[in-house]
Amino acid sequence: MGTNMKCPKCALGELIPQKYDGVTIDVCTKCNGIWLHKGDLNKMAHPHEGDLEYCSTEHITEDRISDCNCPQCKDIKLKKVNFVSYSDIVLEYCSKCEGIWLDRGELDAINAEIDKIQEIPESWDHRIMTFLSKLPF
Ligand SMILES: [Zn+2]
Ligand SMILES: [Zn+2]
Repeated sequence: MGTNMKCPKCALGELIPQKYDGVTIDVCTKCNGIWLHKGDLNKMAHPHEGDLEYCSTEHITEDRISDCNCPQCKDIKLKKVNFVSYSDIVLEYCSKCEGIWLDRGELDAINAEIDKIQEIPESWDHRIMTFLSKLPF
């Protein structure tokens, strides 16, 4: 038996440490999903403002429990969270070790979402305020 962690998604997959942009991540040999330790997502994602992990996990709800266990904590179930809370990208998060599971392709989806956010010059709230201030009352 190896010392590697088991993939939370597939029965036969093992998580093998790999270097990615100077960060060591654990990649499944079968499904190419990746396990990120706390802080890794902020380091790996495209340049951005703010804490992506905090923004994604601050509104965690107890009823969105995944079928999968944390590969590190083992008997703890992962919880489903939406990347930066409002996006359609669903990540799986361990509330104990604060690791995050990404399915294959989700890092690309996250980076596309970050690029989209960076293109918005003003937040919606600001735009609505500007609009209201121009109304003639
Ligand atoms: Zn796997
Ligand atoms: Zn964990």
